[in-house]
Amino acid sequence: MTLADFPRHPLTFGPSPIHPLDRLSAHLGGARIWAKREDVSSGLAYGGNKTRKLEYLVPDALAQGADTLVSIGGIQSNHTRQVAAVAAHLGMKAVLVQENWVDWPDAVNDRVGNILLSRLMGADVRLSSDGFDIGFRDSWKDAIADVEAAGGTPYAIPAGASDHRLGGLGFANWAHEVRMQEEQLGVFFDTIIVCTVTGSTHAGMIAGFADLAENFGDRPRRVLGIDASATIEKTRDQVTRIARRTAELIGLGRELRDNEVQVLEGWAGERYGIPVASTDEAISLTGRLEGVILDPVYEGKSMAGLIDLVSTREIPADANVLYAHLGGQPAINAYSGRYH
Ligand code: PLP
Repeated sequence: MTLADFPRHPLTFGPSPIHPLDRLSAHLGGARIWAKREDVSSGLAYGGNKTRKLEYLVPDALAQGADTLVSIGGIQSNHTRQVAAVAAHLGMKAVLVQENWVDWPDAVNDRVGNILLSRLMGADVRLSSDGFDIGFRDSWKDAIADVEAAGGTPYAIPAGASDHRLGGLGFANWAHEVRMQEEQLGVFFDTIIVCTVTGSTHAGMIAGFADLAENFGDRPRRVLGIDASATIEKTRDQVTRIARRTAELIGLGRELRDNEVQVLEGWAGERYGIPVASTDEAISLTGRLEGVILDPVYEGKSMAGLIDLVSTREIPADANVLYAHLGGQPAINAYSGRYH
């Protein structure tokens, strides 16, 4: 099978836009930086990277006759908000387990931003006191069992829609989309920067770009994941596993090598969800120079990585860098105490 053989249920307006970040590039004085914008590519509750992954899970859910999407994330999960939106859009129900992934003192954390939006869209939101973990959780299994016990047909979506057979396909497709847009723009993106936590965004890109190099004659590219989980070994393992699974699924025809999976650490701080000085600086710089908004959990951390890699010439000055903007802005509301 190839990627084109998998059914895709469109949930976006089309290819996500790509544009240069010229003032940020000039400020850093090195490589030219561009952004590809998952945050503005769907009309479903502000979109984001999970919307693109769900394009490949929805046909499977519909084929199974599911009536309820069941998923899990933190209280300010962007993922569960996108699951709520997709369920509403399809006329399905959503049951969402919201764990206490971030020990964050902001009094409005469980009332604003993503969780507020999920409630507005009619999701059954269930708070759990469990902490951060990207693995399978009992609370999620319980929610699935609850739906079954009530006579419903659940479709189980793990955290971040990542550790799922089809979880990597959305961003393998992103790689193919980039190639098409490169032809229109007349540019080749040799370096991709992406935030990595539950792993299938980065993993899908690795598989997709390897497919382009192996089967479509493209030059290889560096696909650099910037860890924002602060549990680097778990995340690296998960990215490797999902990348290999996705590569096999889309018919890469060879095993991915270990050195094709590059998850870089150094910008996550000590804990998931807690910004550090480099996060705040990246958010502020990108806001002031470009009018582009980044969140303190994910994109602020990956941009901090990009800024350092470009500034130190670890990414050479003649590179064309594509920064994957994966969304996440609604969570900023839960950080009002830090940025007021
Ligand atoms: N950026 C944003 C805004 C997210 O919501 C997520 C979700 O976890 C990520 C990055 C990381 O993507 P992934 O979980 O696929 O590694």
